[in-house]
Amino acid sequence: MDSRYERLAAWDKSYVWHPFTQMKDYNRTDPLIIERGEGIMLYDVQGRAYYDGFSSVWLNVHGHNVPELNRAIEEQLGKVAHSTLLGMANVPAVELAEKLVRIAPAGLTKVFYSDSGATGVEIAIKMAFQYWRNTGVPGRTKFITMNQAYHGDTIGAVSVGSIPLYHETFRPMLFSSYTVPYPHAYRHEGGAAGAMEETLSQLESLLRTSGDEIAALIVEPIVQGASGMIVMPPGCLRRMAGLCREYGVLLIADEVATGFGRTGAMFACQLEDVSPDLMVVGKGLTGGYLPVAATLASDLVYNAFYADYEEQKTFFHGHSFTGNPLGCAVAIASLRLMEERGIVEAVDGKAALTAGRLAQLADRPHVGDIRQQGLMAGIELVRDKAAKTPYEWSERIGVRVCMRARELGMLTRPLGNVVVFIPPLVSSDAELAAMLDILAEAIIDVTEEGWGA
Ligand SMILES: *Cc1c(COP(=O)(O)O)cnc(C)c1O
Repeated sequence: MDSRYERLAAWDKSYVWHPFTQMKDYNRTDPLIIERGEGIMLYDVQGRAYYDGFSSVWLNVHGHNVPELNRAIEEQLGKVAHSTLLGMANVPAVELAEKLVRIAPAGLTKVFYSDSGATGVEIAIKMAFQYWRNTGVPGRTKFITMNQAYHGDTIGAVSVGSIPLYHETFRPMLFSSYTVPYPHAYRHEGGAAGAMEETLSQLESLLRTSGDEIAALIVEPIVQGASGMIVMPPGCLRRMAGLCREYGVLLIADEVATGFGRTGAMFACQLEDVSPDLMVVGKGLTGGYLPVAATLASDLVYNAFYADYEEQKTFFHGHSFTGNPLGCAVAIASLRLMEERGIVEAVDGKAALTAGRLAQLADRPHVGDIRQQGLMAGIELVRDKAAKTPYEWSERIGVRVCMRARELGMLTRPLGNVVVFIPPLVSSDAELAAMLDILAEAIIDVTEEGWGA
């Protein structure tokens, strides 16, 4: 080990508190310290190369150190790094808003910027809440979320979150939300159709009994990410949207993970021709380069705030870095590259290649379920395949597989017993094949040969 690495590793352990990380475990390992990236590879300070098999936690679109994206930031940097959006505008924020409205599901016409998925969700929730106050229906104050939902880590986002491990601790400080099941076929006795019917019937009966106290339903459309890459049966989202319309409830689509081509369409809602009232985007918006998020709103929502100043219907919300010019400039460049290079159109082909490779794992004794939509995949590992018995969480099976994958040269992060594969959208066929070889080897090494036990 070289001395530079040793110094950085010591400082990392001494001074950095890592997110979603038990530091006692972390401090027992040799930390991975990334120095640079090129294409879909990341390189650590010791020069070791890794495939970015999880798009740096679901963000990256075009790979790293992309000349066109770098140039967009450099050119903007030569003009101004930041200027506020409070009561005034800046060039990239305006141009990006126009582009976003053009590619968004029909009916979303306004863009409210923020700086992370969680803040984008907070904004959507507050907008939905105030929408009903502004329109003289103050009784609609509650939200419906879905079982195992993840919408970010700020308090409002956690209040519409439903992953016990992350959210239970904070329950006493949260507002309460209604929950309906996300349609999850794997362990449902009725399979995909049964899971979907259960979701729709529970949603409908909740709307029937409590609809007039509901402000909005918030959903991760088509794929519920953090819960383990659960893929909705086809048609479910469309029928959920129909129920929201029928009962006059706003629909918030959290496309933070699914947006920008990840599922095979620009936005997952577009796979089922759904136009939400509010849509949150983040992660891939800047190609995974800088922290910019946005909450898109329909005319219906926007017009409820559009009033004479004295009526006090203004949306009093904003962040210091709202509409940051550097971030907006790189987002524009990312969208331009996506268009020029046909990135979204190519996802289906790459997804098919991925599906073919993953299918070769289906017969392995501890591969329980393989779920995939576009370039978003999760492999659920089970102790007993026939009984679908989960591994005990203390076995850390997902962590061990991901550590083995890292040794073999690919980075990813598990969701419990689910191993995630979310490669950058630009990954070539050869790169996908190489990453999927590593993934397969890591799964077999750990689940069949006891690696890392
Ligand atoms: C990642 C994610 C968020 C939170 O985004 P941050 O930028 O991490 O705050 C919200 N919703 C979904 C669906 C996500 O995947």
